[in-house]
Amino acid sequence: MSFEIKIWGCRGSIPVSSPDHVRFGGSTACVEININGDIVIVDAGSGIRELGTDLLKRGTRAANLLLSHGHYDHIMGLPFFYPVYKADMQLHIWSGHTNRNPCTHDIISEFMREPYLPVSLDIMHASMNFHDVKEGAEVDLGNGNTAVSCATNHPGGCFAWRVTDGKQTFVYWSDHEHGDDETDARLTKFAEGADVLVYDAMYTDEEYPSLKKGFGHSTWRKGCEFAQKAGVRQLLLFHHAPERTDSQLEAIEARAHKVFSGASAARDGQIIKLD
Ligand SMILES: [Zn+2]
Ligand SMILES: [Zn+2]
Repeated sequence: MSFEIKIWGCRGSIPVSSPDHVRFGGSTACVEININGDIVIVDAGSGIRELGTDLLKRGTRAANLLLSHGHYDHIMGLPFFYPVYKADMQLHIWSGHTNRNPCTHDIISEFMREPYLPVSLDIMHASMNFHDVKEGAEVDLGNGNTAVSCATNHPGGCFAWRVTDGKQTFVYWSDHEHGDDETDARLTKFAEGADVLVYDAMYTDEEYPSLKKGFGHSTWRKGCEFAQKAGVRQLLLFHHAPERTDSQLEAIEARAHKVFSGASAARDGQIIKLD
């Protein structure tokens, strides 16, 4: 039995590239969960391009992709996820459907068209299966693996995802603004007992109240607080602000680690093996 998590993109908002963005990486949101060879992907930010190349090398021909929401930084990589152009690839894409959100098919098809891209959905030769999920409904990922969603507090709506094989549990809780007590409590309960929690730690305490309130994101300190309350083993601070340099992230990581010893800052390429 193996349950392996790999971070392919941990940056928020927009991909970045500079000598100051080397150690943590600059690709936007994409996380792979490999459960005994079954591939579950959360979000299709720019990091999914490299994952796609790797999946082709591995000969993988099936995957489930869970989308948190349709903001660009979470879907922009999909046209560059080369497995979608392979006729023998099976991709299931799941996202939350509310009155405020378009259905999963439209999130992708409305972005993959002229004049935004030269290609549209119909040149993706893979078997593309779009699913609209109601909050809290269990998604069957096959072989006993499941995912469940929980709505976060984010402009336009967004889902957190909890993925488990019945033994190990991974929770992806990104793009969330803390502060609504009922929502925070519901999500903390949702994350309860997770082995690994990815959390939206875009801002610092100093930035948040004065500059960033109402933007739909949270802080590393709130991530530590929720992770401790939820009895999470390992917290990965995620959705790093584009302007945050490697040395600033190392300083944040050190501060967070003092507050909660299970906290660290996510890095592109990082692998966590659970057993
Ligand atoms: Zn985002
Ligand atoms: Zn967002």
